[in-house]
Amino acid sequence: MKKHSVTSSARGRSIFPASIGRLPELAHNLWWSWNSSARRLFADLDRDLWEDVNHNPVRLLAVIPQTKLDQVANNDSYLRDYTQTLGDFDEYIVARNTWFRREFPDWENAVIAYFSPEFGLHESLPFYAGGLGVLSGDHSKAASDLGIPLVGVGCFYRQGYFRQSLSADGSQDEYWEYLDHINQPIVPVRGNDGLPLRVVVELPGRLLHLRVWKLQVGRVPIFLMDADTPENNLSDCQLTARLYTVDRDVRISQELVLGVGGVRALRAMGICPSVWHMNEGHSAFMILERIAQRVEAGSDFESAVDAVRASTVFTTHTPVAAGNEMFEESLVDAYLSSYQERMGITKEDFMALAEVPGVNGHMFSLSKLALRFSGLRNGVSLLHAGVSQRMWSNLWPQKARAEVPIQHVTNGVHVESWLSPRIGLLFYRYLGEDWREHIDDRETWQRVHSIPDDELWDVHSYLKLKLIRFLRARDIAWGGELMDADSLTIGFARRFTAYKRAGLVLHDMERFLTLLNNPDRRLQFVFAGKAHPADEAGKRLIEQICRVSTSAECGGRVAFVQDYDQNVARHLLHGVDVWLNTPRRPQEASGTSGQKAALNGVLNLSIKDGWWPEGFNGSNGWEIGGDSISADDDVQDVRDAESLYALLESEVLPRYYSRDEHNLPREWLVMMKSSISSVTPRFSACRMVKEYCTRMYTPARGYARLGRFD
Ligand SMILES: *Cc1c(COP(=O)(O)O)cnc(C)c1O
Repeated sequence: MKKHSVTSSARGRSIFPASIGRLPELAHNLWWSWNSSARRLFADLDRDLWEDVNHNPVRLLAVIPQTKLDQVANNDSYLRDYTQTLGDFDEYIVARNTWFRREFPDWENAVIAYFSPEFGLHESLPFYAGGLGVLSGDHSKAASDLGIPLVGVGCFYRQGYFRQSLSADGSQDEYWEYLDHINQPIVPVRGNDGLPLRVVVELPGRLLHLRVWKLQVGRVPIFLMDADTPENNLSDCQLTARLYTVDRDVRISQELVLGVGGVRALRAMGICPSVWHMNEGHSAFMILERIAQRVEAGSDFESAVDAVRASTVFTTHTPVAAGNEMFEESLVDAYLSSYQERMGITKEDFMALAEVPGVNGHMFSLSKLALRFSGLRNGVSLLHAGVSQRMWSNLWPQKARAEVPIQHVTNGVHVESWLSPRIGLLFYRYLGEDWREHIDDRETWQRVHSIPDDELWDVHSYLKLKLIRFLRARDIAWGGELMDADSLTIGFARRFTAYKRAGLVLHDMERFLTLLNNPDRRLQFVFAGKAHPADEAGKRLIEQICRVSTSAECGGRVAFVQDYDQNVARHLLHGVDVWLNTPRRPQEASGTSGQKAALNGVLNLSIKDGWWPEGFNGSNGWEIGGDSISADDDVQDVRDAESLYALLESEVLPRYYSRDEHNLPREWLVMMKSSISSVTPRFSACRMVKEYCTRMYTPARGYARLGRFD
């Protein structure tokens, strides 16, 4: 099944023209993915092929006909762009005068290890299921931009997350593609002996051998653990094949690979992190391994715990039960018993490290383990930190709820990854050539108000047309045949899972259809999203949307786009007018797609959940519903749907269709500018990562030096 063909690798290509000889190198650093000139260098080689290879430059260089390479190798204008872009790349990689060096000169060679089960860096690397992964990707990219000495640790899922296609009845079909490392921008990490590095993790009755790959994201390396090695038996080779499988044995094995294998891989590479950041609880086994290593080195258990806790940072991401991993006692016995011995504690004491009550006896909770053994903890929005304080208050019974030590660092997005380059050109002209240096500077963003209305509207209209073409050109959309670039277009795309309530806008079909079929104020919708293969409620929601989108009453103005990924996300987030977000409050810890929308001038129409209570300023979008939460979900749905319809009828549609003599929606444009200028600096990954540095990493490093947390 594996398609190993070494000759198709770009590096193995016999004649790579010297004048463009560094393209393979550029393809092997994801810096290209957020630099539009670098992306153009690849796309210009062959536009159709660039689409066919899903914007994967390593693959592109492997399959592109030699004649194409020879052509550009002699094309002066291409070579000019090439020289300029590689110059920018070199400057970026070697820059010494970074924010981090200026702010923290005493860190010297210190390293922050960032563990995450998902990394959503680009559509060609499907190591993400949703927002958590995209956040890790954006965190890594922003850390690179700021010169933060971060190293990522994750898994190389050779089949990634599933791809989605829909059957005739709207039911979701899932399929997996095999990723050959030859076609990915990853390289094997080698040990001192020059051979590919191996680390092992103990599984019941056997050893699991892991290889370690390196993926370079600007200045930040991400190390990916991979169980697919010849030393393992065939079924063990599959342990890291897929993200979020349901099988509990596979799941606990994966988490050992990430948490334990990750620690061992860093040690084997001689990397000694000063700070260990667990992004989500899936990597929490790192705690056990680090404590055990200290005990084995001669420390007593309490001192080992103190030292590990001192240098550990934990970010919790969800108040939803399914997102908080826990294991039954029998699995803990089977997989973790060696830790009791290594830590020198009893079985009861071991269970007690992370015990929570479950339906069938006690469970071992990774969130609890992570919360108890990290010195600094945070939620991902102000609201979510409060929810987490309540949710976990029993871990600190002596503290009042407001004193429960969970802070907040609100999520942000990597602006250059999510901004349309066209809008970026407007920033270049009206904010200044160096706007990228001022991403989190609120003053700079006030200049957005000087962008002429007609220019902003022209760019927005172009992006909308581009979205409609994207929907038509690919055989990916359901319904939506009659969408046009003039109608108010509302987008909704995210994971399909019950709490996100994709169907809320369809709650009262009659009212929905009246809105949709008003010829004077034309309205259309685009939906996209995947449901986890085991999430039946999520799948029913997709079917519901698909039934509606193909129904005659909707007149081809509701579309469902298949196979949501970062590429589909970009098209939607650049091209719609309004971004709809209807989670069941307070279950959306942050949400980040609305932030991506806002920086492109797309207006948020959102429940007061996650980041939006912090982001909404009265003129940059709309708030659906209020603060109150009914104990009865049905009652809450009715209330929220009512609020949503009322806003659409009396605010959103009238404002969009209120035009001046040049057909410009002046008031709408004021809101677009308010959205861009208020959201971009505050909800950028630049601001977020700086906050992690000052509020989490720096104190953690201080505690770590003391050897304990106080
Ligand atoms: C940003 C993003 C998400 C997260 O969106 P939410 O609004 O936080 O649910 C999920 N998937 C993709 C592909 C994204 O780009």
